[in-house]
Amino acid sequence: MNKQKKLESVQQHIAVICCPYCRRSLQVKNGSLICTEGHTFDMARQGYVNMLNRPRNQQYDKRLFAARQEIITGSGLYDVLHEKIVNVINDYFPAVGSSLLILDAGCGEGSHLQRIIEQSERTAITGVGLDLSKEGIKLAAQSYKQPLWFVGDLAKSPFADGVFHAILNILSPANYKEFQRLLAPNGLVMKVVPRQHYLKELREALFRETEKKVYRNQRPACRFKEHFELVDVIDVSHVKSLNQTELHQLALMSPLSWTAERERIARFSERETAGITVDLEILVGRLKG
Ligand SMILES: [Zn+2]
Repeated sequence: MNKQKKLESVQQHIAVICCPYCRRSLQVKNGSLICTEGHTFDMARQGYVNMLNRPRNQQYDKRLFAARQEIITGSGLYDVLHEKIVNVINDYFPAVGSSLLILDAGCGEGSHLQRIIEQSERTAITGVGLDLSKEGIKLAAQSYKQPLWFVGDLAKSPFADGVFHAILNILSPANYKEFQRLLAPNGLVMKVVPRQHYLKELREALFRETEKKVYRNQRPACRFKEHFELVDVIDVSHVKSLNQTELHQLALMSPLSWTAERERIARFSERETAGITVDLEILVGRLKG
């Protein structure tokens, strides 16, 4: 999809987007989005809009996002997670023809959102991806043409009040106040959090007997429940065998590798195959009545 087509698609959803600085509405004009106060955001040629006025320093780089994309789309490590999220969407929004707007808050390079939309087999879903990382969003826009992609800050997100039927927040920091503002009255939040054994093989290989080996689960459900009515908690727990290339990509995409010794990372990546544990839960919530 070229830039012009993408602009048309943004135009169709212009009521969903607002200026992150003054919250006023936006217009598409000469290839940019412009608010009534004159704040201007350009559509990049790859087909995303940068809603930040200055770049943020990010540790996430291109290689990491490329590895993440390979793992999510190629290894099957997250297939069960996607399937369970799709099931929740189908259960809670049974009218198949109704149009749904789904935000992935902290979408990275967009593969989780893309896979979930593809697998839902509903034609009337519009995906919207937001991430602070320009590298992530750039890759998302290059790879996946349908969703709308925005570089932006979750603390000051460029969306109007109450517009999203579902908000996904997958292994990424939340901003619950913003989620409350953005969620439609009968909307759903799905927050995916790691549990104790998530990627334990990677952690065991990368670190000695230190606290890094264990995910200190901060009882995310408690914080979640302060903001939303918890309607479901869904387990996603299984072991998936990955080949050598996939193990290498897994080490590359994981923030765990940033502080690990190179030798340990190399040794993990040299294994021919290994079972990798996925141990997550999906917290499903709605606005309190
Ligand atoms: Zn503005």
